[in-house]
Amino acid sequence: MKRIVFLGPPNSGKGTQAQQLARKLEVPVISTGEILRAAVAAGSELGLRVKDVLARGELVDDGLMAELVRVRLAQPDTASGFILDGYPRTVAQAKTLTEVLSGQQAPELVVLKIDVETEELVQRALNRGRDDDQEHVMRERLRVYGEKTAPVVEFYDRMGVLRSIDGNRPVEDVSQHILVAVGALSQ
Ligand code: AMP
Repeated sequence: MKRIVFLGPPNSGKGTQAQQLARKLEVPVISTGEILRAAVAAGSELGLRVKDVLARGELVDDGLMAELVRVRLAQPDTASGFILDGYPRTVAQAKTLTEVLSGQQAPELVVLKIDVETEELVQRALNRGRDDDQEHVMRERLRVYGEKTAPVVEFYDRMGVLRSIDGNRPVEDVSQHILVAVGALSQ
């Protein structure tokens, strides 16, 4: 079973890495940020509820995210595994995920944490120039990461499922390290 969670600050490259690994392992990648941005773009009920939160760089509330993830993980394409990109972002979300998976066979996870220096992250955001990547929003997203998501890293570290990846290197090197880190899964 290939169940992988990517953790890392905004602009750590985890989205790109998650996509690449998903192709290799032939499992779907579930990006909660993408799902939310698509909802905003479509102007759906969910989109209207989360639009301002996304624009401010804050987190959507755990209850709404739990509902979203429960529904997505119940889809048949996740039967042979999945990669989560952007979830969980709080300890409450991590507990929800444990609970959702506990109902399934072989609920083990591998959690990959991508480490990148803070100033490099801000620079990457400015280079990319997406709407919510304005510098003050970017700094807010980094602050929220430190406050809410860093404890998730500890949560998984204590569970013994955390693997750290140096994300300061070129994309290809990072991909290579990730493949080694999940090596046991692809054999
Ligand atoms: P991302 O593309 O993963 O950086 O997500 C973009 C934005 O969507 C975040 O800044 C949050 O506002 C929201 N978001 C995505 N995933 C979550 C989550 N697991 N919990 C709360 N908010 C989220």
